[in-house]
Amino acid sequence: MTKCIVCKKKIGLYLRVNNEGIAFCSDECYEGADNSPDDRDHPYIDDYDAIRWEYIACTNEYDSEAGEEEIEALQERIESALDEFWEYTALEGGDGVFAREIYRYWQELEELLGEKIRLGRDV
Ligand SMILES: [Zn+2]
Repeated sequence: MTKCIVCKKKIGLYLRVNNEGIAFCSDECYEGADNSPDDRDHPYIDDYDAIRWEYIACTNEYDSEAGEEEIEALQERIESALDEFWEYTALEGGDGVFAREIYRYWQELEELLGEKIRLGRDV
């Protein structure tokens, strides 16, 4: 497991990378890092931020004990995220750090939808 270069903690759900591929455990550590490159003008940064938050929110919201309505709402939310970032699947993670991360989140969301939500409901 990768460790955060700022606080040395293990990196989990709140992983954040910069455009050099350096990993941080949180936005706070990312922002607090010395000599971090400026990512704000990167062409994929807005999509990266967006799908990262969707992934974190959906993962936090997922609860195997949730009722039918919550699960349906979550399913719709994930499906709309998968639609929104569909174009990144064509790149298959090529074209830089952020495109790679976006594609990874896309796959993780698809897995959450497919393996946990759809299969879970069929049982
Ligand atoms: Zn950290």
